[in-house]
Parts: sequence; C-alpha cells; structure tokens
Amino acid sequence: MSTAIVWLRRDLRLADNPALDHACRAHQYVVVLYVLAEHEAAPWQAGAASRVWLHHSLRALAGALGERGGCLVLRRGDSLAVLQALVAETQAGAVYWNRGYEPALSARDADIKHALRAAGLEAHSFPASLLNEPWDVRTGNGDPYRVFTPYWKSVSRRPVAAPHPAPLTVLAPLRRPRSEALDDWPLLPCIPWAAGIEAAWNPGEAGARGRLLEFLDEGLFDYADARNLPAAPAVSRLSPHLHFGEISPRQVWWAVANRCGGQPLESRGGEAFLRELGWREFAAHVLWHHPDSPQRPLQARFDAYPWAEDYAPALAAWQQGRTGYPLVDAGMRELWTTGWMHNRVRMLCASFLVKNLRIPWQEGARWFWDTLVDADLASNTLGWQWTAGCGVDAAPYFRVFSPLRQGEQFDAGGDYVRRWLPELKAVPTKYIHAPWTLPAAETARCCFKPGAGYPLPIVDFASSRAQALAGFERIKGER
Ligand code: FAD
Repeated sequence: MSTAIVWLRRDLRLADNPALDHACRAHQYVVVLYVLAEHEAAPWQAGAASRVWLHHSLRALAGALGERGGCLVLRRGDSLAVLQALVAETQAGAVYWNRGYEPALSARDADIKHALRAAGLEAHSFPASLLNEPWDVRTGNGDPYRVFTPYWKSVSRRPVAAPHPAPLTVLAPLRRPRSEALDDWPLLPCIPWAAGIEAAWNPGEAGARGRLLEFLDEGLFDYADARNLPAAPAVSRLSPHLHFGEISPRQVWWAVANRCGGQPLESRGGEAFLRELGWREFAAHVLWHHPDSPQRPLQARFDAYPWAEDYAPALAAWQQGRTGYPLVDAGMRELWTTGWMHNRVRMLCASFLVKNLRIPWQEGARWFWDTLVDADLASNTLGWQWTAGCGVDAAPYFRVFSPLRQGEQFDAGGDYVRRWLPELKAVPTKYIHAPWTLPAAETARCCFKPGAGYPLPIVDFASSRAQALAGFERIKGER
C-alpha cells in the first residue's frame, strides 16, 4: 500500500497537474501538502494582495480535493523539515512536485531533491507552469534570447502537449495527517482593499475555468482590436489564475486552439492572445537567465541614472492615485481597489513613475508586488525593466508615455477614468484627460473646480520629460 506526498506550490489545481497525476497513478494513497514557508522566497515573500488570493485559492483547493476523497494538509515551517516530518508520519516513499523557476525557489528545490534522494526516497519534479522550460529555448548560437520577437518565432509553432484531466479520485490515507487550520494562517490581514479583491475575483480552479470560458465567448475574437482599451471587457484577466497555477498555460493554449478550429496562430484574436502568453514565457526565460534582474537593471549603466531626490511625497501621490493625471490615477485606484490593473495602464503608470517623477523603477515594482493579485516575479520585473528602458528588449528610454495622448487614444470617451475617479464624473469628455484645462466659465456647470477635490498635476509633463531625457544623456556613454 504505497503512499506518496504531492507538494503543491504554484500549481493549485487538480486538472493538468503532472505531479498529482503521476502520484495518483503510481501510488494508492496520496497526501497533498501545501507548505507556508515565506522566508524561503525572501526577499520576495508574497505581497498583501497575493496573500488574500492564496487564502481563497487554498480554500477552493481543499474543497475540490475533499470531493475526490482527498485532503489538503497545511503546514508552516522549512519546506524540507515539513516534508521529512510528513514522510515519517505517513511512511510515504515518494515526493512529487511541479517545478518553479524563480531563482531562490529553484535553488531550494534542488537542495530538497538532493536531500530526499540521499534519504532513500523517490523525488520527482515535472514541468507544469510554462509551455517551455526556460533553459530549453536558445538562439542559433546557444545563447538565451534577449529579444521577444525571435524568441516567439522560435517557440510559437512548437507542439503543445494536450492537457490531462483531473484524477477521478485522490485517495488520502486512512489515518489522515494533521493539518493546520487555514484561518489560523496570517494570509487575510486587515488591508483596506481585501473586500474589493474578494468582490472582483473568484480564486480557485473553478473560478479560473469560468474566467477562461467567459473570455473565449466574449473576448477572444475581438482581442487583437480591443485589448488596449482599459474600459472594455476585452482581456482575459487570467493572470492571477495563471500565476497561482489554478489553470495551466497548456489548458489555455488548447482551449484557444479549439475555439480557433485547431489553428490558433491563423486567427487574429488567437495569435494576438497566444503572443501575450508568449510574453509570460519570455519573462520566465529572462528571469531564469538573469536571476538578479528583480533588483538590478539589465543594462548596468542605469545604476548611475540620476534619480530625483526626496521623492517620498511624489511616490505617495502615485501610490494613492493623486498625481493629477486622470489616466494614471484611475489605473492606480483600480489597482488599489481590485488588485489588478489593465496592461495598457500598467505601462503608462510605470512610465510616469520612472520618467516623469524620476523615481527608481524598483520602488514601483515593489508597490506592484504588494498590491497586485497577479504579482509575479518574472512578469513584474520584465514589465518594469521594459518600461524603464533598462531591460532586455526594452522600450527605448526616450519613449515617454503621455497620459494625455494615451487617454485620447485608448479611453477616448473617458469611461475608464470616470469609473475610477468619481470626482471627475461630470467633467466633459473634452477635458476628462486634462481637467486642469477646464475653462473657469464651465466649472459651476460641471460641479468641478480644478485643484479642489482632485489635485492639479504634480509635475508638468513637458518639463519633467525633458529632465528625464537629460538624465539619460548623462548615462548614455556608460556601459
Ligand atoms: P491578457 O491580455 O488576457 O493576456 C493573457 C495572459 O498573457 C495574461 O494573463 C498573462 O499571463 C500573459 N501576459 C499578458 N501580457 C503580458 C506581459 N506584458 N508580460 C508577461 N505576461 C503577459 N503580469 C503578471 O502576470 N504579473 C505581474 O506582476 C505583472 N506586472 C507587470 C508590471 C508592469 C509594469 C507591466 C507593464 C506589466 C506587468 N504584467 C504583469 C504584464 C501584464 O500587464 C499582465 O499580465 C496583464 O495585464 C494581465 O491581464 P490579463 O490576464 O487580462 O492579460
């Protein structure tokens, strides 16, 4: 009667879960374990919004396992010590898990595999959260890719294996190991935006599946045209589900392929959407090959960039959505309220912080890390370094997103701004992205006076842009 432990981490699902699938096939009893070992991810322990998500996702997972005869064992401590203790308690002969690719965690996993095998146990790890292992994609010279387009060209037509269904049963041993209570874990702090997150999302595998189906029905075929419009329900919002592994990229890929008659890359919507999944893969590839990129710019000369001094008040205004630039502020308030922000607005908010406020990109990345429900070390780092102009395949430094022009182009009716900035509700569309230009004669009719209730711009766009570019000139010659 053999028993195995399945150690779940960022793969909180039963379907298309190779570790679980292999364990259920090879062993009669399976103990499914989640270890809260936050210190092991240092300095990138889950932020506040991610912890809220994790709490709900674990609850959903425990319910789904219970329906299949299984149980979820929750323990806190060092991962290896917890595994060793559970092996001793259950007499398990094997441990299964799906791989993670973040630098600190993959080094930990290698040590754990070594220690388990040295103790005579089987230890098996599987690829499950990416379509391609980061080390399996190389340029013709054998180097890692630094530019997305050739990367995507080399991987986009690789075959994608079909996903596996969930095991019908996940039989727990007759004597069930003790589990800590989820409610005793410090995952649901009293953060002001927990209620907003809970209202906006449905964490867990069933929620992920529902989100995917909704997107396939309502978003996929318009995705190429509407994905940049933050007011439109045009994007999938699958990012937190993918991050926590409630759905696999293979499941997403196949669902899209099936909707596109088996030829997803020949459909405009399908190709555009899978390309974004490709960016997720590329981010993991870059992080794998540049493990210090969450802290250090990939272009070292940016270490010498002359950032603004005493930037604390400007940083606070940005975080609170009070910069006076409506599209930036709407994005920051969407983030604060729901734990998510549209990609077009993420790029704008990041550009504004780095280039108009001249605040180091690492400060912005930290704030996103704490407040995003999809906070992901690889994608967040890539997004920030891309926008700051200091990463691989980055936006050129001189490209400074204009909140005004971005607003006119992507939120022409002002719907997104009005949704998140109720104080601008009555401002006519003509002025919605530059409310400080509202003529004095119109203020009474619009119940809005520039500078009262909503701030005037904290920096002038043109001169702050010029300062940012001057800073770049200073480091241009550096290597
Ligand atoms: P969709 O447009 O529906 O795309 C489908 C999936 O593709 C997404 O769920 C995501 O997994 C992936 N994807 C899409 N765009 C990107 C991208 N640019 N880079 C990497 N993967 C992408 N994404 C995160 O998942 N976590 C982060 O912490 C994160 N931080 C970011 C920080 C900045 C400054 C920027 C500019 C972007 C960041 N992104 C991050 C990427 C992107 O904004 C989100 O993935 C996207 O907005 C998620 O919404 P969606 O699921 O509706 O995406």
